[in-house]
Amino acid sequence: MKIPFNKPYFTGKETKYIEQAVRNGKISGDGAFTKRCHEFFENKFGFKKVLLTTSCTDALEMAAILIDIKEGDEVIIPSYTFVSSANAFVLRNARIVFADSSSNNPNLDVDQIEGLINDKTKAIVVVHYAGIANDMQKVMDLAAKYGLYVIEDAAQAIDSYYRDQPLGAIGDLAAFSFHETKNVISGEGGMIVINNEKFMDRAEIIREKGTNRSAFFRGEIDKYGWVDIGSSFLPADVTAAILLAQLENLDKIQQRRKEIWAIYHKALTVLAEEGYIKLPVIPEYATNNGHMFYILCRSEKERQGLIQHLKKHDILAVFHYLSLHKSTFFHKIHDQRKLPMTDYYSDHLLRLPFYYELSPDDQELIIKLIYEFYSQC
Ligand SMILES: *Cc1c(COP(=O)(O)O)cnc(C)c1O
Repeated sequence: MKIPFNKPYFTGKETKYIEQAVRNGKISGDGAFTKRCHEFFENKFGFKKVLLTTSCTDALEMAAILIDIKEGDEVIIPSYTFVSSANAFVLRNARIVFADSSSNNPNLDVDQIEGLINDKTKAIVVVHYAGIANDMQKVMDLAAKYGLYVIEDAAQAIDSYYRDQPLGAIGDLAAFSFHETKNVISGEGGMIVINNEKFMDRAEIIREKGTNRSAFFRGEIDKYGWVDIGSSFLPADVTAAILLAQLENLDKIQQRRKEIWAIYHKALTVLAEEGYIKLPVIPEYATNNGHMFYILCRSEKERQGLIQHLKKHDILAVFHYLSLHKSTFFHKIHDQRKLPMTDYYSDHLLRLPFYYELSPDDQELIIKLIYEFYSQC
C-alpha cells in the first residue's frame, strides 16, 4: 500500500532506551523504565495509581477480577466496541448486557442505560470511542444511584478529556492500550488506572500472579507468597523503555495528530454539508485527541465503493467493529433486543488513513479522491 491505514511512528529514542534497559541488566517487569512510565502518568494526568500491563485486554481482565465479577453478575457494555471490552467479563462468567450506541457518536446512549439495570447489574463499561468522551456525569450519577462500578475502556483515549477531567481518571478503574495502532505505542502494551482506593493494594497482587511480591520489593513485608488469584499481567521493562520514549514526545505526537484530524475535518465539511457523508461530532463536554478520523457513509454499498476507489489508488481505508451482539460467539446468547445504532455504525463508519507521518501531499490526495468518488454518485 502506498498509503497504509496505520503506520507506527518511532520518536528516535526507542532503541537507545531499549539498549539502556538491557544494560541495566534487568529486563523483567517493574524495572526503572516501568517506574518512569508510572510517574509520567501520575504527574501528567493526576491519576492516583497506575500499573503498566501487557495489554489493554489484560488491564480489562484485571478490572473484572478486581470488582469480583461472579457468575450471574450483569455488566452493561456497548455492542459497538472491540472484543476485549466484553471478553474480559465473559472470562469471569458475567452475563453481558449489550447497550446501543448514541445517535451522535458510537459511544453508549446513556439515556438507555437505566432501563438495562436490575438487581444483578454490577458494572457499566464505557468505551471512549475515537478518544471522544462518553457523557460521564450521567454515567457516574447512575452508578452512584444503583451502586455500580464504572470501568472506562480508555484504549483510544490518551490525553483526552471530559470537561476538565482526563479520561481514565473518572471511573473506578480504567484501561489504556499502547498497541501499535494507538497514539502512543509499545508494540503490545497497556495500563490499568486505579481511581477507587479500595482496589489499589489488590491490583498489585493480581498483576503479580496473586502474590504480594510488590510489597515485598518495597520492603513492607519480609517474605512474599500466594495470597489471592492473579496472573502475569506486567510487561517486560524493555516494553516500558519503548513506551517512555513515546511518552516523552506525547505533546509533539498529539499536536501533529490533531492537525491531521483538523485538515480532514475542514476539507470534508463541504461534502458533509451537501449531504454525501456525515462527520464526527465532538460533544461540548468532550475533547478530540486525534486518535482517529472517521466518516459516516450513506449506505454500506456506498462505503464499499469508496473503499474500492481508494484501494485502486493504493490507499487503505477500513471500516471498524462488527456489532458484538451479532457475533458468531454471542448472537445465540444475546437477549434479542435490536441495537439499531450499533448496526448503523457497523455498516456505515469508515476510518481514513491516520498516522503521525502521513504527509500533507498524501492527505491531500486522499481528500481529492474522496471528492472524486462522490462526484460520480
Ligand atoms: C485497542 C483496543 C483494545 C485492546 O487493546 P490491546 O492493548 O490490544 O489489548 C480494547 N478496547 C478498545 C476500545 C480498543 O480500541
